[in-house]
Amino acid sequence: MKADTTLPLRNGATQLVFGDGNPDSEILFIGEGPGYWEDVKGIPFVGNAGALLNQLLAKIGFQRKDVYITNVVHYRPPENRDPSDSEIKAFQKYLDEIINIIDPKMIVTLGRFSMAKFIPGVFISSVHGKEKVVDWNEKKLTLVPMYHPAAALRSSEVKLKLTMDFERLPQILSNLSKIDDKIADIGEEEKIEKKVEQMNLI
Ligand code: URA
Repeated sequence: MKADTTLPLRNGATQLVFGDGNPDSEILFIGEGPGYWEDVKGIPFVGNAGALLNQLLAKIGFQRKDVYITNVVHYRPPENRDPSDSEIKAFQKYLDEIINIIDPKMIVTLGRFSMAKFIPGVFISSVHGKEKVVDWNEKKLTLVPMYHPAAALRSSEVKLKLTMDFERLPQILSNLSKIDDKIADIGEEEKIEKKVEQMNLI
């Protein structure tokens, strides 16, 4: 990515903000794009929104090193404006590759831009905190759309919703692990069918 001079936003940014955390994690968080502090430090979610994200993770017994965190765009948009559709599209192949490499069981999207990658055309207010099985590269993975921590810093109502959604994550993850245990002993084709069936049940 550093070598790709065609990437938008590159010229106005200090550096590439690739990702942070444990690449072997079962959970991948995807935010929007680097802000001021992320641009300075080269690490996602290290400003105020990042501090809230750390608190929410701590509340459910996780640290940053237990999860992996990245964004839909990896250079800071000027003045922290929203990334445009074409900018998001330009970074897409890299984000897809990051998802493939991390190969998470669950993706938590933070905010509407990363949510729209998987479930376009929905309102975050109607789907936040609800897990959904999505197709990813001929595989299924569980998506949990959430409000962006920056939105939670602006509204105590959103903060409460985000906190409650976070509190469900350990249970969702444990259900997914139980499914994997259950299907460990059955044949390949049946395994895939069973997994989809079980995921839809939860
Ligand atoms: N907001 C984001 O979406 N990503 C970051 O890395 C920081 C703030």
